[in-house]
Amino acid sequence: MADLIRLTAAELATAIADGTASSVEVTQAHLDRVDAVDEKVHAFLHVDREGAIAQAKAVDERRAAGERLGPLAGVPLALKDIFTTEGVPTTVGSKILEGWIPPYDATVTKRLKAAGVVILGKTNMDEFAMGSSTENSAYGPTGNPWDLTRIPGGSGGGSAASLASFQAPLAIGTDTGGSIRQPAAVTGTVGVKPTYGGVSRYGMVAFSSSLDQGGPCARTVLDAALLHQVIAGHDPLDSTSVDAPVPDVVEAARSGSVAGLRVGVVKEFRGEGYQAGVLQRFDESVELLRELGAEVVEVSCPSFDLALAAYYLIAPSECSSNLARFDAMRYGLRIGDDGTRSAEEVTALTREAGFGPEVKRRVMLGTYALSSGYYDAYYGSAQKVRTLVTRDFERAFADVHVLVSPTTPTTAFPIGERADDPMAMYRADLCTIPVNLAGNAAMSLPCGLAPEDGLPVGLQIIAPAMADDRLYRVGAAVEAGFQARWGHPILEEVPAL
Ligand code: GLN
Repeated sequence: MADLIRLTAAELATAIADGTASSVEVTQAHLDRVDAVDEKVHAFLHVDREGAIAQAKAVDERRAAGERLGPLAGVPLALKDIFTTEGVPTTVGSKILEGWIPPYDATVTKRLKAAGVVILGKTNMDEFAMGSSTENSAYGPTGNPWDLTRIPGGSGGGSAASLASFQAPLAIGTDTGGSIRQPAAVTGTVGVKPTYGGVSRYGMVAFSSSLDQGGPCARTVLDAALLHQVIAGHDPLDSTSVDAPVPDVVEAARSGSVAGLRVGVVKEFRGEGYQAGVLQRFDESVELLRELGAEVVEVSCPSFDLALAAYYLIAPSECSSNLARFDAMRYGLRIGDDGTRSAEEVTALTREAGFGPEVKRRVMLGTYALSSGYYDAYYGSAQKVRTLVTRDFERAFADVHVLVSPTTPTTAFPIGERADDPMAMYRADLCTIPVNLAGNAAMSLPCGLAPEDGLPVGLQIIAPAMADDRLYRVGAAVEAGFQARWGHPILEEVPAL
């Protein structure tokens, strides 16, 4: 079978299960693609060639022994370098964890392995998942496979780029304010932020614990659903894990339909700062939803205008506490430990050398916002806004089944363009952040190319908490509708690079 890298994860799983291809062949084809293009794309921080082939062999042996394989068994995946992997480096895109080899697997890693999913390696990301472009990685940026001079989004740019460059059919990301959905939007791929608590955070390096959520990335809605099913579900090792059945996302993706659904268009997500071609493709998506039988209404969520400001107090506050554990004593880097310095001095030197500028900015901001005297004015006010955002969603979902918006205000911007302008960078997440504040579920999927630059545009679908299946039902219908119109998937060709 030639061209194994073109196939979807669902197709690969079928080929492996019925013996048309072995997992070793499929894995090798993807490793060959990594060898051919990743020097240019830089989606991976670490490629685990031997480990991947060993996992693939194990799946092939299980099949040969007559075992009935799971729905993604033998299919390769790119794992964001924020999940611990036993015996395989985990850096979170930071120098402070350079050389650290975790002694244990994250729950997500464990579940992938148990399902026979083959982990190819660890993907590049903004340091500690702070960023929207992957330029904050301490190991250099990732290129967008649509145009290597542009950003692939962030923080999960490596995972999204691995899909768009056909180095992997599946990837895992994390989404604190948009880091799964925004990279999906700007690379023409599918990304889902599950309901908060839907996927275990155990072994996922913490950035902002009340917002962080791991989730699936893929090139099709069905592939994302198959992966969602593998990683989701209650985990006693994560105290915020939801102890309830996982919505049947695979069945929803297989039976995509919007007939009889009420869809709300969020009024606040347009206007100044939104690229014309993004709005054009979004408006066409809304038209498509109508044609497919949805009833579309406009919905107002006035507090969403304050969400970005609230997020940039809450996320830095939580990160200033979470990152305190990187003290040069417990993990990774240690600078200046020559017997002449105090522990405090070693900690300070290590953090100075090990953390990049964005991480330092956020730790300082968060420490300030939480300090006594300022707590009520900043952190307290931000938490009140968070409540207002949640209430806006509750009001909206009393009337509609899902909400839709563009995923991002613009298409992929050039590498370097916003690197020195944190505010411009932060605005990339205008439409995604409210979802994290409320803990809802959301998906980004491709809705065309912007006419002015030929780059992918993402459609965001938002569902109430624990109604993740609605994302897949609507997403699959939209995906099928667009493919019928275009005559092919958005990522039709394997880019030459
Ligand atoms: N871009 C946002 C930030 O920098 C969101 C990142 C994320 O979702 N991890 O915080």
